[in-house]
Amino acid sequence: MAFLNDNYLKLQAGYLFPEIARRVREFCEANPDAAQRLIRCGIGDVTEPLPPAVIAAMHRAVDELSVRETFRGYGHEQGLESLREKIAQQDYRDRGVDIGAEEIFISEGSKSDCGYILDVLGAQNKIAIPDPVYPVYVDTNVMAGHTGRADEAGRYEGITYLPCRAENGFVPEPPAKPVDIIYLCFPNNPTGAVATLAQLTRWVDYAREHEAILLFDAAYEAYISDAAIPRSIYQIPGALECAVEFRSFSKNGGFTGVRCGFTVMPKNLHARAGDAEKLPLHKLWHRRWSTKANSVSYPVQRGAEAIYSAEGREQVRRLIDHYMGNARILREAAERAGLTVYGGVNAPYIWVETKLGLTSWQMFDKMLQELNVVITPGSGFGSCGEGFFRISAFNSRENVEEAARRLESLA
Ligand SMILES: *Cc1c(COP(=O)(O)O)cnc(C)c1O
Repeated sequence: MAFLNDNYLKLQAGYLFPEIARRVREFCEANPDAAQRLIRCGIGDVTEPLPPAVIAAMHRAVDELSVRETFRGYGHEQGLESLREKIAQQDYRDRGVDIGAEEIFISEGSKSDCGYILDVLGAQNKIAIPDPVYPVYVDTNVMAGHTGRADEAGRYEGITYLPCRAENGFVPEPPAKPVDIIYLCFPNNPTGAVATLAQLTRWVDYAREHEAILLFDAAYEAYISDAAIPRSIYQIPGALECAVEFRSFSKNGGFTGVRCGFTVMPKNLHARAGDAEKLPLHKLWHRRWSTKANSVSYPVQRGAEAIYSAEGREQVRRLIDHYMGNARILREAAERAGLTVYGGVNAPYIWVETKLGLTSWQMFDKMLQELNVVITPGSGFGSCGEGFFRISAFNSRENVEEAARRLESLA
């Protein structure tokens, strides 16, 4: 008999989204009329179609593949050179960060990258993860065997949790006990918080002092409108020696179904081998990609490249303005309802305190039953999310305006 990976058995049953689906289904079956007016503000998925520049580029790429003269097979293992060059130039060098195309690795999305990165990091690392958090960071560490079992609160033995609460503006402080790997995500999913230059500088200084590595998830950087807020961890001096950055075309370009993202692995980032020698992680990461993958679909990469054209940038800008307009409407409605509201300014998520001491799930049920609006209970993102809920701004304007009217009736 073959053996399975026991670490998977430590995972908490994928509780959050199946449980939301179950409660919504039961409610709709019992209340067919209310089901008609249900508005889903729980999803973290885009709703608007892809920018026309992306569609046109993907069509052109498919046509190229249809004739011998322009047909392409396997591409560069790190991704299309022209795409990587545009990323390095527009996302980094134009903002004063010295990144080269050889430090960019194109992937099928940053969720995968957040998991793949563990391939090149040692199992003995002490890992720190914010709470509440995007569940991928925790679960991939559990799968890799980096943790013990979970306690009743769902916290795994062996992970250092970094509480994100209203008191610290949902931006965690470096822990007292040294750690080796720290996951950070700004703008944050689920709290919508952003980190200032000073706050990120504390983390970069901490990482350099302890020879730790920051895994910086910048999936929502395009939603930052405040010019003083860093859009990349590399805007902090010294970060090129201690941080990996994950980016995605999912939330800016609308690529959640198309699938494309990238990792920045700076050549100057080192980690220690078992014999204490310091080696560049870039070599291992390159080896990992060339061994386990053959890059990303050609039409998809051409679509991503179109995001960097003048018209592509303009079209993405309009998409983001649409979602951020939604965020403002929802945030103001929640405030008018007398709720305490965070986020929704430089991020498409609004993080709201539940009313009158309700738990996150009680608030979920109340909103479902009384308003027919589906939100995400904060406790599903970690124990520090208890007492909060997340409203997503990814929706049509029509749905958002109706959801806002209903929210206000909570007052
Ligand atoms: C949506 C999201 C991503 C992007 O994932 P993809 O796999 O690129 O679609 C990454 N990190 C966070 C926190 C997200 O919410």
